[in-house]
Amino acid sequence: TCGICVEKCPFDAIEIINLPTELQDDPVHRYGENSFALYGLPVPESGSVTGILGPNGIGKTTAVRALAGEMVPNLGNHDEEASWEAVLDRFRGTELQNYVERVRGDDVTIARKPQYVDQIPKQFDGVTRDLLDSTDERGALDDYVERLNIAPVMDQPLDTLSGGELQRVALAATLARDRDFYFLDEISPYLDIGQRVTAARLIQELAEDEDRAVLVVEHDLAILDLLADTLHVAYGEPGAYGVITDPKSVRNGINEYLKGYLSNENMRIRPNEITFQEHAPRETTKGASLIDYPDLSKSYGDGEFSLDVEGGTIFQSEVLGIVGPNGIGKSTLAKMFAGSLAPDEGELDFHLDIAYKPQYIEIDQPMRVDAFLASITDDFGSSYWKTEVANPLQLEQIMERNLDDLSGGERQRVAIAACLSEDADLYVMDEPSAHLDVEQRVQATSAIRRYAENHDATVMVIDHDIYMIDLLADRLMVFDGEPADHGHAAKPQEMRAGMNDFLADLDITFRRDERTQRPRINKPGSQLDSQQKRDGEYYYAP
Ligand code: ADP
Ligand code: ADP
Repeated sequence: TCGICVEKCPFDAIEIINLPTELQDDPVHRYGENSFALYGLPVPESGSVTGILGPNGIGKTTAVRALAGEMVPNLGNHDEEASWEAVLDRFRGTELQNYVERVRGDDVTIARKPQYVDQIPKQFDGVTRDLLDSTDERGALDDYVERLNIAPVMDQPLDTLSGGELQRVALAATLARDRDFYFLDEISPYLDIGQRVTAARLIQELAEDEDRAVLVVEHDLAILDLLADTLHVAYGEPGAYGVITDPKSVRNGINEYLKGYLSNENMRIRPNEITFQEHAPRETTKGASLIDYPDLSKSYGDGEFSLDVEGGTIFQSEVLGIVGPNGIGKSTLAKMFAGSLAPDEGELDFHLDIAYKPQYIEIDQPMRVDAFLASITDDFGSSYWKTEVANPLQLEQIMERNLDDLSGGERQRVAIAACLSEDADLYVMDEPSAHLDVEQRVQATSAIRRYAENHDATVMVIDHDIYMIDLLADRLMVFDGEPADHGHAAKPQEMRAGMNDFLADLDITFRRDERTQRPRINKPGSQLDSQQKRDGEYYYAP
């Protein structure tokens, strides 16, 4: 369908051969004539974690507002008064019947974690403890504070916390409630992999041990795979209509999503398949070196945090992935390469132009996107710039918007475009995946790779999404140590050795999905997990 007249094309312009059965029914909700319509609802189930996988703007929040009883879905009749009786009639005999009966009886309580944790300090004044104390409805808060490592910031004002700290505080504040239904809109932004895995365990424990229903939206596929018991795929035309499928097994749902084809629904949702390399990329014989840097060290204050960097080489036109926990010195190294911070020991005598995309993007200027990007590059608007930068990052639709009313994902895409539009020797990107949905991560990945290949550009990418790093990087630089105390950066190494070092430190192994070769986190202590640890093959297992 063209995405506008979803039920029936009035011009008979489109032969609807592939119309999914959901679209032959009335929607669950339509905001108004020619407004967004939602088809299908996820099924929250006590004792289990239900995942939703799909792009932003596809109706996930609309669905949750209905399931929380905050809005009575109108079943498409937007000019009539909606009633729970009608909704119940619609879902009688389905898996949602019991749930809808409870919502109608006002018998469902909900806790929710918002998508944009950066907004929390704007809504809540005070220190972490003030926010958390009021949420301790089950006596579980102390456990969350300990396992999410929140204790060091308990007495810190919320507006001084980092994104990763705010994300953990927001998780604790939501999970500590005593509710029937928990809705978590993205858990991974700003968290490192270890913290993501911990968050996933806490959520599973809440569902299983406390018999609660949890609904999670998550774009980090490795984490979604680990976390969810069942999965709904959401697809459609963002802003026009969204379809939430019946529940699938998590493995199957993610595989179909990556393939771009949903078999039960007989629906193609993307022209091309997303594939993973089965083996570590060959070590390419790289040409010229861009930077040869010596051993470096840097400490802050009177040694509260110190970083040691092993000297190494960064090659011209490679994409170097940078991985390691939060607070380990990754940004500190980026700043030293950028020349904005001087090392205590070791000398950096190169003068490179560096384009830097920070982790937190502050572009709160009253300026339009097009004016902002035009101020960065003379190429703005050229067909070459559109093909290389604007189109892959889907900027056309937001060019005329103001920077300060963009969503998190839109802002991220503008920031990546701004970085790539600079004329630089080295492009450094800190967490480009944050707030992008899966589709946009794949597009951003190929935009960055293509740019590097076509321009002989050298790119350093710091990210915690292991799939994105796998798809993007030629080599890896691994950080380890004790966060907030001392960090160590190894010299860049090939992907297999780098992944092994990194994941051994985290004690996590990945196996390959037989059908798609997609990496999946092994259950700790499983046969494969033990075998791979013995073999020292943590990621690219043979
Ligand atoms: P998601 O959570 O998947 O990002 P939402 O459920 O928030 O999506 O929104 C889906 C679509 O519905 C968006 O295009 C949004 O603009 C539209 N929408 C949301 N709320 C309203 C409303 N109250 N009136 C009209 N349109 C709305
Ligand atoms: P990463 O990028 O790996 O998250 P950073 O390089 O930002 O780590 O920070 C490493 C450590 O140094 C953290 O504990 C951080 O709080 C501390 N730190 C960063 N910048 C400063 C500074 N200007 N003064 C004092 N401590 C700092």
